[in-house]
Amino acid sequence: MFVGHYAAALAGKAIEPKAPLWALVAGCQLVDIGWGVFVIAGIERAHVDRSLGGFPAVLEYMPYTHSLPAAVLWALGAMLLAKLLLRLPWNASAVIGAVVFSHWPLDLLVHRPDLELWFGGQKVGFALWDQPVLEQAVEMGLFGVTGAWWAASRAKLGRTIWPALMLLTLYTALQIAALPGPPADTNLAMGGGALFAYAVAIVIALFVDRDGARRSI
Ligand SMILES: [Zn+2]
Repeated sequence: MFVGHYAAALAGKAIEPKAPLWALVAGCQLVDIGWGVFVIAGIERAHVDRSLGGFPAVLEYMPYTHSLPAAVLWALGAMLLAKLLLRLPWNASAVIGAVVFSHWPLDLLVHRPDLELWFGGQKVGFALWDQPVLEQAVEMGLFGVTGAWWAASRAKLGRTIWPALMLLTLYTALQIAALPGPPADTNLAMGGGALFAYAVAIVIALFVDRDGARRSI
């Protein structure tokens, strides 16, 4: 799942306009950003298997980023960082924490059983990755609906909906570019490719919401 995760960021922005869009966008992929760093460092392990029917990643070991207790800890950490470093109100910080946690249930939908319920415990995943058309429909559906929700919330505040339209278009282009999966079967290609895509998404969020960043609404 790529663009589907951003549905949580857009819902968060619609619910709490004081939360900066870039922080929500970084937050919804925060555990994957950690995963990219850990895979490059050899702390977590993954490889590419092109013989799989759908998305070709095999994620054999990732307890520090994608186990359920790890997701809770990343979310709590992000909430505290939002409060202490970004000096956001508790409401906005809690929304960022919730958006960070949303990564796990959304991954649960699409991953093959590779998400630990506890450290070293049973692995779960509903494997929508094996049905790529349905998986893309779910992702794009979630993304489209929450994008419309964010646009409507901007209109209600008397603001233009152009940023929402721009973000929806640019992220859809990113999603299409990411469709073939990891570029190569090396730790650097897998982790680095993911980190590059997430960085582009954050830059786009900073660009489309730069008036919001200034006014913090
Ligand atoms: Zn993930």
